[in-house]
Amino acid sequence: MTYIIGEPCIDILDKSCVDVCPVDCIHEADRMLVIDPEECIDCFAPSEQLVTSWGIRSFEELENQTCRVLTDSGFEPAIVKRFGRKPLVKVELAPAFEERDRYGGTRLTTRNGSRFRRVVRATPTHSWLLVDGERTGALSPGEFVPSMRALPKRDSESYRLGILHGLVFGDGSWNKQEIRSGEHLHYVQLYGDKVARFKDFFDQVNFSPCLDIHPGYAGTGVVRSCANLKRLLPETADAEYITGFIDGWLAADGDPTKAGSWRLRSTDHEALAWVEQAALIAGYIAVGSGEEGSVETNFGVRSRPIRWLYLATRDVSWRVMSVVPEEADDAKTFCAVVPRKHEFTLASGVYTGNCGACEPECPVEAIFPEDALPEKWEPFVKINYAYGEGMDVVNRLVEEYANEHDVQNPPLDQR
Ligand code: SF4
Ligand code: SF4
Repeated sequence: MTYIIGEPCIDILDKSCVDVCPVDCIHEADRMLVIDPEECIDCFAPSEQLVTSWGIRSFEELENQTCRVLTDSGFEPAIVKRFGRKPLVKVELAPAFEERDRYGGTRLTTRNGSRFRRVVRATPTHSWLLVDGERTGALSPGEFVPSMRALPKRDSESYRLGILHGLVFGDGSWNKQEIRSGEHLHYVQLYGDKVARFKDFFDQVNFSPCLDIHPGYAGTGVVRSCANLKRLLPETADAEYITGFIDGWLAADGDPTKAGSWRLRSTDHEALAWVEQAALIAGYIAVGSGEEGSVETNFGVRSRPIRWLYLATRDVSWRVMSVVPEEADDAKTFCAVVPRKHEFTLASGVYTGNCGACEPECPVEAIFPEDALPEKWEPFVKINYAYGEGMDVVNRLVEEYANEHDVQNPPLDQR
């Protein structure tokens, strides 16, 4: 699918659409402009993931589905589309932070960052947003792209359930003997500041005085569910549940660091890999990861080393470290079409553009996605696609259409 320019452009040719096109695929014929469908809209590899209101999903699994994607004004409706086979590039990104420069201003730097890298596979002329608000269809090393994270609500029932799931996942217990009629029982030990912070999240808390172990009263929160929450990630839950899960897990296994950021430690490497992608739904951006050297504990040797993930709450940008063409054959490509907004967030937290940038620029509403083109302008699909056969063919088809339909569009200044 591509965008199509239709009848209202005939004899207008004001070219408002041309400058915004990141891939220069709008071309001038004698009486109107046409879009080169081979170049219009450039996009991502099928396995790349994006942030939706129902978790992190790949483009491929959402093909032709509507969803809500994360933008700078919250979750907005979008449809994920498959486009043609194109070559891809691997874009390597490093987290960058703002720091004061010696002249009293600020600048973005990767100096304080780790060796943490994000890799995104996209077409070479994908429409990227840059931190200064500009767009580019030719991303190059040294440029900075913005990140985006959600600002989720933390007061809903879904959030409460997510918190319980996260506390169980990180710090709770589950016992096969305690499955009753398909209901799984989990227990979370509450002590210290967790008592005051989380006791109201539970439907049932069994308090018991154990002054000899912990000062004050320690309690045991009881969580009932239809599955073993110690093993389950909320991959397809809604955004507030995922936020609760991550907050709950951080309360169980995380260490707060400066400025509200966290270091999350676990031997569950798969779960950490998922949080790395999903953290931005809870308002965090993963900017570092690593593995602890020692596997010795007081109880013996761990079967798996502890990995850690650094989740930042401060503003993060991404510096382009390299853009390398892939050697593999051309691949199917996908993108999220986000009406009006034309922007969305990848799972890594990278905020990116999609196209359709020309559509709102047109003063006579001549530009449409191919599948939303009004039926009466169907001939313009052929006219735009004729660009590949040369402008002579385009001009002949436009002329035939204009004569047949007696097109007389008044100039812009006479409207
Ligand atoms: S949709 Fe984007 S790439 Fe396609 S013609 Fe419009 S501005 Fe250019
Ligand atoms: S902005 Fe609209 S009318 Fe103007 S040249 Fe582009 S398609 Fe034609």
